[in-house]
Amino acid sequence: MKAMVLRRLADAGKQAKPLELSALPDPTPGRGAILVRVKACGVCHTELDEIEGRTPPPRLPVVLGHQIVGIVARLGENASAFNAGDRVGIGWIYSSCGECRFCKRGDENLCDGFRATGRDVNGGYAEYISVPEDFAYPIPDVFSDAQAAPLLCAGAIGYRSLRLTGLQDGQRLGLTGFGASAHLVLKMMRHRFPEASVYVFARSESEREFARELGAVWAGDTTDRSPDRLDAIIDTTPVWKPVVEALQNLEPGGRLVVNAIRKEDIDKDYLLRLDYSTHLWLEREIKSVANVARRDVREFLQLATEMRLAPEVQEFALEDANQALLELKTGRIRGAKVLVID
Ligand SMILES: [Zn+2]
Ligand SMILES: [Zn+2]
Repeated sequence: MKAMVLRRLADAGKQAKPLELSALPDPTPGRGAILVRVKACGVCHTELDEIEGRTPPPRLPVVLGHQIVGIVARLGENASAFNAGDRVGIGWIYSSCGECRFCKRGDENLCDGFRATGRDVNGGYAEYISVPEDFAYPIPDVFSDAQAAPLLCAGAIGYRSLRLTGLQDGQRLGLTGFGASAHLVLKMMRHRFPEASVYVFARSESEREFARELGAVWAGDTTDRSPDRLDAIIDTTPVWKPVVEALQNLEPGGRLVVNAIRKEDIDKDYLLRLDYSTHLWLEREIKSVANVARRDVREFLQLATEMRLAPEVQEFALEDANQALLELKTGRIRGAKVLVID
C-alpha cells in the first residue's frame, strides 16, 4: 500500500518535507481486529508534535494520522462488530488494557496501557490500517468522509474539553486559538448552550474574522483583555503565552482547560510572568484534557449528527501531506485539513 512515512524526527518548518511517500505491505488484521481501507484522514497539530519530538513515536518508521474514516475491507478472526463494506471511524485512542480501574470506569484515556493511533502503531496517512474493532466507530450517513474525519479528533476532544469546563447555559466561554477544534467547539456551544456567549483570542485577523462569522460575540488578539470576564476558557494553542494571558480574563472561580497533548518550549519563559495574585488567586484553576475516551467519540458523533455539524474542511491528496503539515505549522488555518485518498 501507499503510505506517507515518518522515518526520522525533523523540524517540520525548515525541512518542510518530513514525510516520505513509501510502499508498505498491507497490514493484516489480527484477532478481534478489522482491516480498514482509508478514505480520509484529518491532519492534526499532534502530527507536528510527533515529527518534532514533543510526543515522539516509540519506534520509527511510523505512519502518522489519527482522524480516520474508511471502509471495512476484511475481518480478522473473531471480529464480529462490523461487516465488510461498513463505514467506520478511528480516533487517537487505538487501544487500552481493558482491565485497570480507569478502563473499567470508562476513562480508558487515562490507562497506562493507552496506545495512540499513528504514534504507537501505524495510522491513517496510508491506504489501509488495521484496528481493534472495539476502537472503531460507525460513522453516521449524514457526513462525507472528509467532513467526518476531523470530528474524530478535533471534534471529540473539543467535546471532552467543553464537558470538562463545567460550563452552563448563559455563561461566557473563551477560546484561545481558533483552529479545527475551537471552531467545532463554537458550533457545539451554539447548539447546546444557545444563551451562552463565546469570546475568541487568536493571533491572526483571518482567524478572528472566521470566529465572528461563526457567531463569536467578540474576537481579539491573544494579549487583549476581553470586554467581560469569562466563566471558562479552553486553550487549544501549542504554546504558553495564551495560557498566561487567558488567566487574566477568567472570572474568580473560573476554569482554564488546556486542550493540547504537548506544549512547545519556544515561549516557556512566558510562564515566569505568572503572578499568583493576578492569574490564580480567587480559586481560578487550570485543568488539562488527556485526549479522548471512546464515550466522548460516540457521544460527540451523536451530537454532531443531531446538529448536522459539518466542519469546514480543506482537502489534500495523500501525497501532499507535507504541504498540509507545513500550512498547519505556519498558521494558515481555516477549518480542518484532511487528506483524501482515492
Ligand atoms: Zn488529533
Ligand atoms: Zn487500562
